[in-house]
Amino acid sequence: MKIKAAVVREKAGPFRIEELDLDEPREDEVLVRVVGCGICHTDLVARDQYQPAPLPAVFGHEGSGVVEKTGSRVTKVKPGDHVVLSYLSCGVCALCKQGLPTYCSDFLGCNFSAARSDGTPTMHKNGEVIHGVFFGQSSFATYALATERNVAKVRKDVPLEVLGPLGCGVQTGAGGVINALRPRAGSSIAIFGTGSVGVSAILGAVVCGCTPIIAVDINPERLRLAREFGATFAIDSDKTDPVEEILKITGTGVEYSLECVGIPKVLRQAVDALGRAGLCGLIGVAPMGSEVSLDMHSILNGRTVRGIVEGDSIPDIFIPQLIELYRQGRYPFDRMIKFYPLDQINRAVEDTEKGRVLKAVVRP
Ligand code: ZN
Repeated sequence: MKIKAAVVREKAGPFRIEELDLDEPREDEVLVRVVGCGICHTDLVARDQYQPAPLPAVFGHEGSGVVEKTGSRVTKVKPGDHVVLSYLSCGVCALCKQGLPTYCSDFLGCNFSAARSDGTPTMHKNGEVIHGVFFGQSSFATYALATERNVAKVRKDVPLEVLGPLGCGVQTGAGGVINALRPRAGSSIAIFGTGSVGVSAILGAVVCGCTPIIAVDINPERLRLAREFGATFAIDSDKTDPVEEILKITGTGVEYSLECVGIPKVLRQAVDALGRAGLCGLIGVAPMGSEVSLDMHSILNGRTVRGIVEGDSIPDIFIPQLIELYRQGRYPFDRMIKFYPLDQINRAVEDTEKGRVLKAVVRP
């Protein structure tokens, strides 16, 4: 079928709206009419080829939409259902079998190979292969082809166009706190980096009943927003030493910290800000091969550092939970969103990169 999509043809190049041919769904695939797709840092990392992904390609991996058609073996959803599209996992490796699909042995292959698992492409333009299947979806388009595994069915009485970011950025921050750190009510937490993932984590800390919730960033505007979303303290780490400030606030250091930036110096700060037996989560994606040094005595005293991918989220379970909290007004992630038409995706990307918007969502 004919679709309209935002195609990236060269490294760091612009998004161009083009008409493409998208395959009909195979037996395990689901065709989704996209109503909204969030722009995430990972789309821009792939565009700039810091994480290699074949070009020309259609990115976009925070899609939400309506199921249009399903393959013969699909049972989870039917045409007309509302879905959020999330990351893809293989479903057959030991980690997937243990219920840890965010640590799937083939996570990179599933999400960055730009082809189906059998190597075939899903999109063409006049015979030229256009790479799709980005995070099992390629949702910067009017229609996306996903699989039964990476669509999460959602209730129909919430606005579908805001839900896409739940499939990646929001579940990464929210799940980093709610699923991975699992802080007790009343415990202290520091969130390093307050972009859309950090704000999603702050909202998660509010849901968990953390106090204090300390936001750390170098951007005064983002720190102001972090307070609006529930941070009880905001530290400008460009002006002061965040570790000293956190020790002043808590006396002994925080019980939990979360690194949402992907910079070795910030991870060190997030560990040094912990009290004894504290737990630091790492969400930020640093360039391959990045190393960090830690004080061995600090770790000896019960401190833990653990990496977290996609907020340990099992989308079929966690996305409906976040939507329920959102309906109750307890997880107002939609306040981060600004909408753009798909054909203004380059403006949306620029606003994202310049920090003018926390979460841009393009609408086909
Ligand atoms: Zn797997």
